[in-house]
Amino acid sequence: MTSRDPFIQTVCGPIDPATLGPTLMHEHVLCDLAPRALRQSDIAEEKISLENCWQIRHEWSGHRDNCLLDDEDVAAAELSCLYASGGRALVELTVTGIAPDPQGLRRISAASGIAIIAGCGFYTEESRDDDLLESSEDDLAKRMINDVRHGIGDSDVRAGIIGEIGCSDAWTRVEQKALHAAVVAQIETGASLNIHPPRSVEKLFEITQFIDQLGGKLERSIFSHIDRTIFTLDDLFRFADTGSVIEYDFFGIESSYYPFKNIDLPNDAMRLKMMRSLIDRGHLSQITLSQDICTKTRLSRYGGHGYAHIMKNVLPVMPRMGFSDAEIDALMVATPCRLLSMVYN
Ligand SMILES: [Zn+2]
Repeated sequence: MTSRDPFIQTVCGPIDPATLGPTLMHEHVLCDLAPRALRQSDIAEEKISLENCWQIRHEWSGHRDNCLLDDEDVAAAELSCLYASGGRALVELTVTGIAPDPQGLRRISAASGIAIIAGCGFYTEESRDDDLLESSEDDLAKRMINDVRHGIGDSDVRAGIIGEIGCSDAWTRVEQKALHAAVVAQIETGASLNIHPPRSVEKLFEITQFIDQLGGKLERSIFSHIDRTIFTLDDLFRFADTGSVIEYDFFGIESSYYPFKNIDLPNDAMRLKMMRSLIDRGHLSQITLSQDICTKTRLSRYGGHGYAHIMKNVLPVMPRMGFSDAEIDALMVATPCRLLSMVYN
């Protein structure tokens, strides 16, 4: 590679985009979501066991230990299962506020063979990171640019994407400052941007306008968790028309219950139907998919579906739901490749 060739930045160094295999675009391997947990469930303090894992999974945010992924050996074993099922890379979006560990990701990548592309930036204000509250827009932008160009925080592990940038339902001023800074970093570095959006369709549109007005690229802005945000085809098509990237990243959550809002979550088949409708309207290159694993009970070790679920259980049903091999390849390889490729500038 010459210095002008596109590359994908993994935690173990840059790789040639042509070598990228099937890629999950939104996962967490090491993280601690506990600060944002809603309320304690009745079994919050119990050790996870076969007897209680269904209930903890159901109320997943109310159990302290469930919200903590911190065991590198377990993580490497889980990612080895992903590798064995044909997965080759994942994007790890644990950012400031939910305990990022870039050096740990590098060790897990080396142990499992899975290429990991790390995110950088700031989660929601609720995660209460003092830096996020006190720093200026300019400082936050500089930090993210440094994370991409030189290494996350004081590590030498470079980020390959910006985000997930936390925008809570209130979309607070502090969160707007962080998103503004992230757009500046997107423009400066050419990296794609991932947004954890509010749970309201109209706020989604506000955010697209915000990014657009700042000169950010919507075609390199990925909106996470569309599964819990857009419920009608009409809204979905209107959103697709903004040119933004639409991410279905709750694959494997087959329960309609959602702890953060009174909505009914879709199951995998419903996600695939929404994706099919988008593709039929010409939006194939705007869709990404993933599982957003961020709790213990979603790991194989604790009775969950694990990181290999899409590879093992979702891709095989897609042909009978009308997806061609070329479309599956676009979703799993070509689109991630385009979104993760960068050039030095
Ligand atoms: Zn996430």
